Amino acid sequence: MDKTLRGVGVSHGVAIGEVRHMGTAVLEPPAKQIAEEDAPREQQRARQSVEAVANDLMARGNLAGGEAQAVLEAQALMAQDPELIADVERRIAVGSTAARAVYDAFAAYRALLAGAGEYLAGRVADLDDVRNRIVARLMGVPMPGVPDSDRPYVLIARDLAPADTALLDPSLVLGFVTEEGGPTSHSAILARALGVPAVVALPGACELAEGTVVAVDGSTGSVNVSPSEEEQAAFTRDAEERKSVLDSTKGPGATSDGHKVPLLANVGGPGDVAAAIEVGAEGVGLFRTEFLFLDDSTKAPSQEKQVTIYRQVLEAFPEGRVVVRVLDAGADKPLDFLTPVDEPNPALGVRGLRSLLDHPEVLQEQLTALAKAAEGLPVYLEVMAPMVADRADAKAFADACRTAGLQAKAGVMVEIPSAALRARSVLQEVEFLSLGTNDLAQYTFAADRQVGAVSRLQDPWQPALLDLVALAAEAAGAEGKSCGVCGEAAADPLLACVLTGLGVTSLSMGAASIPYVRATLAKHTLAQCERAAAAARAADSAQDSRLAAQAVLSGE
Ligand code: PEP
Ligand code: MG
Repeated sequence: MDKTLRGVGVSHGVAIGEVRHMGTAVLEPPAKQIAEEDAPREQQRARQSVEAVANDLMARGNLAGGEAQAVLEAQALMAQDPELIADVERRIAVGSTAARAVYDAFAAYRALLAGAGEYLAGRVADLDDVRNRIVARLMGVPMPGVPDSDRPYVLIARDLAPADTALLDPSLVLGFVTEEGGPTSHSAILARALGVPAVVALPGACELAEGTVVAVDGSTGSVNVSPSEEEQAAFTRDAEERKSVLDSTKGPGATSDGHKVPLLANVGGPGDVAAAIEVGAEGVGLFRTEFLFLDDSTKAPSQEKQVTIYRQVLEAFPEGRVVVRVLDAGADKPLDFLTPVDEPNPALGVRGLRSLLDHPEVLQEQLTALAKAAEGLPVYLEVMAPMVADRADAKAFADACRTAGLQAKAGVMVEIPSAALRARSVLQEVEFLSLGTNDLAQYTFAADRQVGAVSRLQDPWQPALLDLVALAAEAAGAEGKSCGVCGEAAADPLLACVLTGLGVTSLSMGAASIPYVRATLAKHTLAQCERAAAAARAADSAQDSRLAAQAVLSGE
């Protein structure tokens, strides 16, 4: 394998550590026949693996305590069910490998559970997890799900779904590397939220051997495999130098001639607030509330739970601005109780505001919870809807906010090209726009944001995307309303200057990027940003657009 691999750097910083793989979700062992004399050995391997997995689940339960302990102990008991073990042994006796016998025996048991009433059917996912663990052990592949490790590691995955990442222990994850995913995928967003370096769309990532040491540079996108001690020292030195430059710039976001551009944080919940405050975020520009709903995909969290969580975020920014996005479910963030299962193309289907308009009770509950959470607080609450296509969508959302009696500005995200093209019409209904450049790029270029192979088109420097940003910002300017950016484009320091030059009024990003953006913005005047924006738009490719802006801003 090459010593240096290249992907797309999506979250700044450097991480050096051992590789741990995110295990595959479902392992289907091949249906091979074994010789009769091998059966006793396979039966013994099966018994040993079942025992080892049960012991591991019990040990993890002891560590976790509380409710988690009860769940893990119940899983350990499932693994040791004598009926199940007898079935595995019978299957091996007639020629199955141990792995295949476990797989098939669990499938039979699973079918029984699934048809045995609601409570037992609910245990099917636990049973699948036990099966995957035993099969993974028998096949000598990494355990499914988040790695079991008590030492910090660099997480390698094909891609990371929000549901996987909810289980990550941030104190153990030094950085992320994914084989798939573009700069706007949720792996990238999560890495920025955690403030750890990340590289996505790295061909060959999944082939890195477990335990290999890698040095990940989240700014350049390079991953150095098995670096020497000198290389590791040089990496760390570089990172420290970059960090000390950043720590020297503080205060609100502004160009060098004082044009203010508030720098806000993207958060997924109260857990992200401390990092935002530490870097001096002037508020929250995007609170992705769906992370609260992903814990249990069968129903919405109770109104009380929502109020508590929203209030924790709102209280953290007294006198500040907090923009809450209502639930954005569907596509890569499906929820069982909202998302249709049979859509051929979920990213173009019923997601975002569309799901909420189909389930107005969920939207009303959320807006009411927000109204209660903000009661008596001096915060400037703003609420916005995802995936708004036109004025009718904007009106439906603004109406819902009024019905809930919400004392907050209502706005919409511009993520669909039609909303940018007709921004003035949309603004007849709402108070502000926020450009979701991740989805806006996805829909402008017909390039799925989860597919690494099309990440070229997900590049927010694409001039066509900049044209749409300009249209929306001009429309907002003409209406005397604000137009921020909360997509990942805002986290690129150079692009942040271009967006400012296009007329964008605030920038919201993962907290870790704020110091980089603040430092770069503070080096340039508004007029320079405007010239850089014009040069970027005049280019014909993302690469030329970036080079043109760079040339203007570096005074070449
Ligand atoms: C976006 O699409 O740019 C955005 C901010 O929303 P999300 O990334 O959560 O889809
Ligand atoms: Mg979006």
